[in-house]
Amino acid sequence: MTQTAGQGSGSDVRATAFVARYVGDVVVTMDEDRRVYQPGVLDVVDGRVAWVGAATDAPAAAAVERRIGGLLMPGLVNAHGHSPMTLLRGAGDGLPLARWLSEAIWPREARLTPDDVWWGTQLGCAELLRAGVTTTCELYLHSRAVADAVLAAGIRCVLTPGVFDLPGAGPDSTWQRCLEDAAQLHRELDGRDGRLVVGLGPHSAYTLPSEGLTAVAEVAAQLDALVHVHLAETSAEDDVVRARHGCGAPEALARTGILDCRVLAAHAVWVTDDELDLFARHGVAIAHCPQSNAKLGSGIARVPAMLARGLRVGIGTDGPASNDNLDLWEELRLAPLLARAAACDASALGTVDALRLATSGGAAALGLDCGSLVPGRVADFVRVELEDAAFVPARSHAELLTLLVWAASSRLVTDVWVAGRQLVSDGVCRSVDEARARREVAVRSQRLAGG
Ligand SMILES: [Zn+2]
Repeated sequence: MTQTAGQGSGSDVRATAFVARYVGDVVVTMDEDRRVYQPGVLDVVDGRVAWVGAATDAPAAAAVERRIGGLLMPGLVNAHGHSPMTLLRGAGDGLPLARWLSEAIWPREARLTPDDVWWGTQLGCAELLRAGVTTTCELYLHSRAVADAVLAAGIRCVLTPGVFDLPGAGPDSTWQRCLEDAAQLHRELDGRDGRLVVGLGPHSAYTLPSEGLTAVAEVAAQLDALVHVHLAETSAEDDVVRARHGCGAPEALARTGILDCRVLAAHAVWVTDDELDLFARHGVAIAHCPQSNAKLGSGIARVPAMLARGLRVGIGTDGPASNDNLDLWEELRLAPLLARAAACDASALGTVDALRLATSGGAAALGLDCGSLVPGRVADFVRVELEDAAFVPARSHAELLTLLVWAASSRLVTDVWVAGRQLVSDGVCRSVDEARARREVAVRSQRLAGG
């Protein structure tokens, strides 16, 4: 890979604004041309990338320079998660999805309070940030508490309040009430701190009636909000969807107008070629959750077929009760591993393609301007320690990226910034009281389990 000249957004910005300059041994941009600079410089102004390029080309600037070494790269983007489920971690192991939900998850969720969800989200944010995840797309209950917790933690978040009738949670938890609350939250908090985007999270076609999906589509169109929905996660859910809607889930979403919105579909494991073509026509984005799908025995989504159709694809941890952690580096490896194993083809999903899923691909799926280190984009980035056996030998930029996917892991993430603000240093999350969050979640989990 050749080194190319750096990219700037103009000298005026640097001349007039405070510049934080970071000098790394390597800067991996994940831009369109896969540029890698060694050594590289990243200039940050007002929370955005002002310049990135080779250290030798760095422009003169009134900068505070930090020579931090290591590898700098965009923060990872978690395209599908339920981080408050740290409260339910480990519940229902060994059950298939339908029984896992009805026997282990929904009874606990019916007992949740907003305070529980706040602490569960705080712990989830700390875990995500320490793993180098700077953006997370969340779908859950008690969404105001989720919003408060992610804003306090400093992480970037696409929050899509869950819309469905939660079994056993009483008359206040109808899909109609959920939808009203979600629309209200959008009006109040969308765009807050430049880090929070509020969409809508209709849980799935199997937990909502057709009129519910139609109502979500109408509200989403009014608000121009992202619609985040579970879709075709297991083969078994198809029977339930057909009984409820008279057709499969993709068709049900199309008939009710959901697919005319901006849609992020989580899982999409059990979809036909025709259904993938339908998604391509409607610009549906996919959140691929390989580890959750493997743990629940749901199957392997056909990511190469999605990418071949030009679909935007990101990767997600799903909730920590079906994973059971929030370490997106594991998905970064598992996505190409499963794609290659399923196809018996080592070229089924390339290394850089996998990195794209975890960074710029996830950002595109969510409609955000993070996921790559390009002037003008938000300065969400992480430092990875290079002084480790995982990076020996790395004789070229191509080999370095290979080792980043196959040999590195979240244990090598030392520092994390969101919008230019450092949230993790020396491997410790500074924006969350993680010890307290662990204690709170441990005690509250006991109550939720009915124990
Ligand atoms: Zn999910």
